[in-house]
Amino acid sequence: MKLSRRSLIGIGTAAATSSLLSSCGQKAPAPKNTPPAANPASKAVESKVYPFIPTTDSSAQNINYVEASKADPKARVKRGETEGKDQFCKNCQFYVENKALSEAGGSCQLLPNWSVKADYWCSSWVLKA
Ligand code: SF4
Repeated sequence: MKLSRRSLIGIGTAAATSSLLSSCGQKAPAPKNTPPAANPASKAVESKVYPFIPTTDSSAQNINYVEASKADPKARVKRGETEGKDQFCKNCQFYVENKALSEAGGSCQLLPNWSVKADYWCSSWVLKA
């Protein structure tokens, strides 16, 4: 097989990029749609008040954040011992209380710089430990 100069340059560039990344200790990016591991700091209390994230925001839509009563029952299914009807932001591992918002809401570790409503839900819900 005869390789053109252009294809040799392309192969060389790809090899050099791969070599550079591995020499820098770079890891492959995490797969999408995989929620991060629950952070034990989630029991902390947020002090800054952020606006409530609208359900139309792309970050909210990526995790299907909606008012719990309007969530797709096929998605809001039993997880562990917790029935779908009992899953809310307020009892999620990623939820951080905010005393300024009282019972209305708090912060979510998956949606930085936003507040979430306590009675909402998303498909990344994990029972608070
Ligand atoms: S259910 Fe949990 S992960 Fe989803 S938006 Fe609410 S607090 Fe965040």
